[in-house]
Amino acid sequence: MGPPGAGKGTQAAYICGKFGIPQVSTGEMLRAAVAARTPVGLRARRVMDAGELVADDIIVDLVKERIRQPDCRNGFLFDGFPRTLPQAQAVVDARITIDHVVEIRVSDAGVVERISGRRVHETSGRIYHVTFNPPTVEGLDDETGEQLVQRDDDREETVRERLRVYHTETHPLVSFYERLSDTTNLRFSAVDGSGSVEQISEAISAVLNAR
Ligand code: ADP
Ligand code: ADP
Repeated sequence: MGPPGAGKGTQAAYICGKFGIPQVSTGEMLRAAVAARTPVGLRARRVMDAGELVADDIIVDLVKERIRQPDCRNGFLFDGFPRTLPQAQAVVDARITIDHVVEIRVSDAGVVERISGRRVHETSGRIYHVTFNPPTVEGLDDETGEQLVQRDDDREETVRERLRVYHTETHPLVSFYERLSDTTNLRFSAVDGSGSVEQISEAISAVLNAR
């Protein structure tokens, strides 16, 4: 977990590669639903563009269906889920075991800097940054050579709203998981997200390997 633009998707790709598990990113799933104009996508589009959160029941159904797929049998990584206390409670109620929660801590100013330069390859979800993680050829995806785009919800006023929503709706999950880690096998770790992509990867590897 972490605010929008903290580097969750970037780090998730590393962790999933290392452990050979799929990345279950609710943001990616929703963007795919929007692109495919499914009923969920049609409902979610305006909410996402406004920087608000999609309804808990829609998200929980999407996730439950996703983790029933065979590739999730040996584990999975949630990226950007759960994002509200009802979503976190739904995970507990469904007896879905989370081994480790990692919070990436980045200041609001850091978030704005990261999001304003974010560019993505839409079909694969590959993430770049114009300054901090540029593609080999400006504006083009390294693997396919296709055009990179800026996400519709990465405009500055939407980012401010997403940050506000993060602080009010999602950040309370930190104490929720700190409490759970006192009474169950779940581990909670916070890492400083202000360094480079490699430094943060190392910090996350260290807390995961310490299990
Ligand atoms: P970021 O981490 O940059 O905010 P995401 O790709 O995780 O971006 O999410 C993009 C948008 O998708 C969110 O602003 C929200 O509208 C929606 N969304 C993603 N995950 C959830 C979730 N777990 N609950 C509710 N809405 C979500
Ligand atoms: P999130 O999934 O949390 O919204 P992303 O992984 O998409 O975040 O990262 C947001 C932007 O910041 C992307 O453009 C990414 O390339 C860039 N980025 C990620 N980690 C770092 C870092 N440690 N330092 C600088 N930029 C970063």
